[in-house]
Formats: sequence, structure tokens, C-alpha cells
Amino acid sequence: MRHFIAGNWKMHTTYTEALWLVTSIHQGVVEKNYAQDIDIMVAPPYIWLQPVCTVLRESPVEVGAQNMYTEARGAYTGEISPVMLASAGVRWVILGHSERRHIMGETNDLIHKKCLTAFEYGLQPILCVGEKLDERESGRTLEIIRKQIETALEGLTGENVPVIAYEPVWAIGTGHAATPEQAEEVHAFITELVHSHYGPDVHPRILYGGSVKPNNIAGFIKQPHIHGALVGGASLKPESFLGIIENALDVIKNS
Ligand code: PEP
Repeated sequence: MRHFIAGNWKMHTTYTEALWLVTSIHQGVVEKNYAQDIDIMVAPPYIWLQPVCTVLRESPVEVGAQNMYTEARGAYTGEISPVMLASAGVRWVILGHSERRHIMGETNDLIHKKCLTAFEYGLQPILCVGEKLDERESGRTLEIIRKQIETALEGLTGENVPVIAYEPVWAIGTGHAATPEQAEEVHAFITELVHSHYGPDVHPRILYGGSVKPNNIAGFIKQPHIHGALVGGASLKPESFLGIIENALDVIKNS
């Protein structure tokens, strides 16, 4: 399975910064021919999707949105639909990011609806799941992950398999990444859940997210059930995002 490094820019970058960042990433990827062996995506804020898609039109670097609404069109002031994203050239959409769940109050049911709609309109969801610190400390990690995954996958069949990102909430933006062993335990569990939903022949692509940096990516990539990373803070600097790709590729090529 091809590994995948995805950058989530969150609510960062001005227009000028976004163009500089995407151009630098594109040039770095092309120069080193990184995309031959790994998939790469950036998810800028909505407002920069169109210019970023224009820069990346001939690039192997793909584009994702950070969110979307559940409907294709209508009276939903301020929302962005999957149809709009697809027509702008966006291929991926991050759904259920912990900041959407815990700051904006998104529920498992809403995220499930978004997953169904994303597939309906031809977008590839990256479904984010993860436990909060108190949930981990009270031994409820796998129970929380099970509920998030089982609800999101309801009604989905074998052609529609989301990429899943395991992002422990306590590791996001804190500088305290999970250990590769902690992540691997949850990734193996997610693999089992996906197999029990779709059957044993469907192999999910599962990314780890939470304080990934150039100096810790290798430990994650070495794990058998970890197929890449969803990167927040370190995706905002070309050198750190490209460094993560480079160090992931070192492991992939030597294994
Ligand atoms: C994220 O936003 O998905 C994320 C993992 O952030 P960070 O890499 O900054 O922890």
C-alpha cells in the first residue's frame, strides 16, 4: 500500500503566504521526485483552495479541504458543499477533525452524514478519530474509537472506504506525540474494525496525526499498520513538511 503524507494548514496563511507555501512544497516535491513513492496532499483554508489548485494543476501534490457541509446546495449561509469542492479541483476532504468535533461540536452522526455525502459527490474523505486525554486515562480509548469508526462507516460499502487518521486529541498541537507503539495499538484495532465492516479483503489506509515532525516520523512509518501521517503545525513550513516526506521515504525504501 502506498504511504500518504497530508498537510492540514488549519486557519493559517494569508493569500501571499499560501501561494509561497504551496509553490515551495510543489518545487521541493518535484525536484526530489518524492511523489514517485508516496502520496502527498495539502489542505489549505477554503478561501485559498482555488489558487492552490491552480498552482498544483500539473503537480503530483494533491489538494484537500478541511471540512465540508452535508448538502450539495441550498440555503446554508456560510457553508461549503462537496459539489463546490469537486468543481474547484479538490479531491480530498478531512472530516471529523478533533477541532471540528470539540470546538465546533460536530457529532459522530453529523460526521457520518458528511462521509456519505463526500462519497456521493466523488470526494475522498479522510476520517479523523481520536480520544481525549481523560478518555485515554480512564481506559476508554478503544471504546471511543470503535464508536467513532462504526458510526462513520454505517451504510458504506466496499467501493467507499475512507482513509482514516488516528489523531489522539492530547497529541494534536501539543508537541507530545503518541509513541509509535501507542499509535500502532490503535491502528491495529482500527484495521480489525474496518475488516469486520467491509470484510477481510479491504485494507484501510490509516494515518497517524499528532505532533508529527521530521525527527519522529520514522518511528511511525516503521509500524506495520501506520501508512503515513496527517500533519498540522509542521506542514506550514516547506522545510519541515518536505523533511517529513524525506524521512518517511527513507524508511519505506529501506524496508
Ligand atoms: C492536525 O491538525 O491534524 C495535527 C495533527 O496537528 P499537529 O501536527 O500540529 O499536532
